[in-house]
Amino acid sequence: MSGTFLGMPAFPEAARTSVHNPTLRANIRHATHTIRTKRAAAVAELDDWAELREAGKQIKEHTLRHLDRYLVQLEEAVTAAGGTVHWAADADEANRIVTELVRATGESEVVKVKSMATQEIGLNEALEAAGIAAYETDLAELIVQLGEDRPSHILVPAIHRNRGEIRDIFRREMGRWGRAAPDGLSDEPAQLAEAARLHLREKFLRAKVAVSGANFMVAETGTLVVVESEGNGRMCLTLPETLISVAGIEKVVPTWRDLEVFLQTLPRSSTAERMNPYTSMWTGTTPGDGPRNFHLVLLDNGRTDTLADEVGRQALRCIRCSACLNVCPVYERAGGHAYGSVYPGPIGAILSPQLRGTQSEIDASLPYASSLCGACYDVCPVAIDIPEVLVHLREQVAEQPGHRLERAAMGAAAKAFDHPSVLAAGQRLASLTRRLHPSKLPGPGRAWSESRDLPAFPAESFRTWFKRQERRKREEGTR
Ligand code: SF4
Repeated sequence: MSGTFLGMPAFPEAARTSVHNPTLRANIRHATHTIRTKRAAAVAELDDWAELREAGKQIKEHTLRHLDRYLVQLEEAVTAAGGTVHWAADADEANRIVTELVRATGESEVVKVKSMATQEIGLNEALEAAGIAAYETDLAELIVQLGEDRPSHILVPAIHRNRGEIRDIFRREMGRWGRAAPDGLSDEPAQLAEAARLHLREKFLRAKVAVSGANFMVAETGTLVVVESEGNGRMCLTLPETLISVAGIEKVVPTWRDLEVFLQTLPRSSTAERMNPYTSMWTGTTPGDGPRNFHLVLLDNGRTDTLADEVGRQALRCIRCSACLNVCPVYERAGGHAYGSVYPGPIGAILSPQLRGTQSEIDASLPYASSLCGACYDVCPVAIDIPEVLVHLREQVAEQPGHRLERAAMGAAAKAFDHPSVLAAGQRLASLTRRLHPSKLPGPGRAWSESRDLPAFPAESFRTWFKRQERRKREEGTR
């Protein structure tokens, strides 16, 4: 995975700034509550939502189980339709492939459709290092790029910005990247959208190369699908001569019939729409229609390792709707940047540590960035049991160095519960010494016990009390 966000402090420290920023919290609270309310209404319109959710889960499970077969089928279909398929084991390889493909065209700039996969691998930075300018064309991504910022939400990357901040960014930065913002630009949404439209149109009409991701790839025909709301994607996918799409290997679905399920659940779950305003599909190349050259870069970057984990692999079912972010009480307060990855919120807390491993401070802390309330699971349109994966990842983190005390405590507890006499002796000792017990845990456990009351130990254990009662009854019976 890209090193873009690596080196960040652990989640609690990274979240501290946003938790103490009332403007940021207000921006995020307003946006997430609006989207979640609309989503709930859009989902409630469908009587068969539960069946669609189960179907989505089953299709993804089946595909992941037979991923090798469907990826080969996809490659054959794309090739037969005039496209070229490249395989990238990691971010570096994917970036190198895309850079070489752009260089081969002789161009030094590309327009981009919003894509999580290219953010994941840090493609813009890699292209910049090679002297190629990458222009984001999704409105929110444009705001993030002009503001030299980082995305903080899967669907609404500039969710942490309000209208006034966006106006200032446009006024200050647009001229540096191309057409400047109109004089006297206000923070009215229509004016901001018009400024972005004029700025981007220049780039759409000039670009010879576009880079996209894919929401889905249909194995049976080699068709790629991008869903979006602004039409910028459609411009990028149709106008340039060369189109390069970078997609995670888990984006494949076997058939068009399978795709139908997700085209119902994704828009309702993400933007609360009945269908997407723009759903673009293309199969290889067609003479006289759209790009003349099409390249598909299939990205692994930690996905096959994730697939090998029986519990964790369900994260690969994700269709990036972002519903789990909008209901998460932790995300609402911490914001997206604290997660240290392009995948924030509950899905980020389980996906990033699996794609990148749990060695870094931030990745080891992400499985703990949750109250385990389960709201994310309830809204997920492909029924990913995020709390289950979080607990599973916590177990893995606890196995790493630095958790010696926790492991020793759990080991001692396991031994005591395995040997009733040891447990009884321990309980007796704890009861006898109860007045000496501290009210707070020492050392690493102190932070945990600071916000909780440690329960007082009883004067006698249930076991001792029970024995005493039995003895009393026997004595009364013999009188
Ligand atoms: S985990 Fe589920 S709810 Fe969250 S983004 Fe992925 S599909 Fe949507």
